Amino acid sequence: QFDVVIVGAGHGGAQVAIMLRTQKFAGSIAIIGDESELPYERPPLSKEYFAGEKEFERIQLRPAKYWDEREVTMLLGTRVASVDPAAHSVTTDGGETIGYGKLVWATGGSPRMLPIPGGDLPGVQGVRTRADADAMKAASETAGQIVVIGGGYIGLEAAAVLRKAGKKVVLLEALDRVLARVAGEELSRFYEKEHRDHGVDLRLGVGVEAIEGRDHVTGVRLADGEVIPADLVIVGIGIIPATGPLVAAGAASGNGVLVDRHCKTSLPDIYAIGDCAAHENAFAEGATIRLESVQNANDQANVVAKGIVGDEAPYHAIPWFWSNQYDLKLQTAGLSTGHDQAVLRGDPANRSFSIVYLKAGRVIALDCVNATKDYVQGRMIVTAGLVATAEQLADTDKPLKELLA
Ligand code: FAD
Repeated sequence: QFDVVIVGAGHGGAQVAIMLRTQKFAGSIAIIGDESELPYERPPLSKEYFAGEKEFERIQLRPAKYWDEREVTMLLGTRVASVDPAAHSVTTDGGETIGYGKLVWATGGSPRMLPIPGGDLPGVQGVRTRADADAMKAASETAGQIVVIGGGYIGLEAAAVLRKAGKKVVLLEALDRVLARVAGEELSRFYEKEHRDHGVDLRLGVGVEAIEGRDHVTGVRLADGEVIPADLVIVGIGIIPATGPLVAAGAASGNGVLVDRHCKTSLPDIYAIGDCAAHENAFAEGATIRLESVQNANDQANVVAKGIVGDEAPYHAIPWFWSNQYDLKLQTAGLSTGHDQAVLRGDPANRSFSIVYLKAGRVIALDCVNATKDYVQGRMIVTAGLVATAEQLADTDKPLKELLA
């Protein structure tokens, strides 16, 4: 029996415990996680860790000592199989039943894999955990050609790391542009050119019909019949939120567990946060969405921890995100979904520029490439809901924050 049981030892789960102790919460806390590692940063798995530039120890969120000193019980390598809301307990895959006062569901998601023949062959790799990244790294070292399926952040980042290592890379995207789900067309085109200039064989609008191979992947068969040879296939086509046990226990759900502004689920004393939580987001005009970002996991964790100690305040954080590819640092503030105007600020040829997204004349988001100043000030103008003209926003002689005056 613990006062707070956190399911999922990832970004969100760790932050709940950190924030509870920061808020002087004196009750007992347990984190149950199905991976064997202490909580670590996931973003480097397709960046510095995959590239071999950072050791695992350097991506751990906190050293073991930190959790010991703060008396956070870590039950690792343990999966929660079911939840009993009436009894206020969870049962693990090992059959142990653990009682809770409050339960925080912070389980993230698992990589969506391709439901096609050969989609689960050895050598077809999703990317979510350290184990995935280790397997991908080991396989890439001996691979001749690597096919990346999916032109989202993870696929593009993996492709950049692999090209830097001199690997032959083919990247397949089903839609007619990369980053279609998260960015405007101009940014997509910039990143497509970037990857092609670095030697990625980038193909858009291609359907994948099957993964070929007997005991191990040997190639990827496209809808038009072409077979692209591959020794490793990296799949980056999104995640399926890990909500099974909670939904089975009766939690209201849609695309994720539904939570209110305080991250409470429909079940008593059960919260959900991070990648698995579908919430109404003020920066998406109140639409119910899931956000897959460290920022969201941390901010929702803070909302929950403060709620537990009686300092309740609703979630209202500006979404932000980053991605590193080659020498490009992309930083995003706000959500560009639904924009009706995109203004280019700066010159992409200089490899430092921003795209400002507007809806009905109001700034709703920015994508900033090697333009940290714009990003920092962009957060301010998005939060303020700035109304500005395209000419004003494109004028690089004027810092964005001056438009707020
Ligand atoms: P997670 O960090 O995924 O933690 C969930 C944990 O719960 C996992 O360990 C999972 O195995 C465990 N779990 C699931 N079910 C159970 C169960 N039943 N019992 C016990 N444990 C369970 N975000 C950014 O903002 N910027 C980036 O650049 C960026 N890059 C990324 C690169 C990669 C390769 C990946 C995979 C993600 C990246 N993200 C990035 C997204 C970011 O990592 C996630 O948004 C964040 O980890 C979400 O935190 P979370 O706590 O919701 O889930």
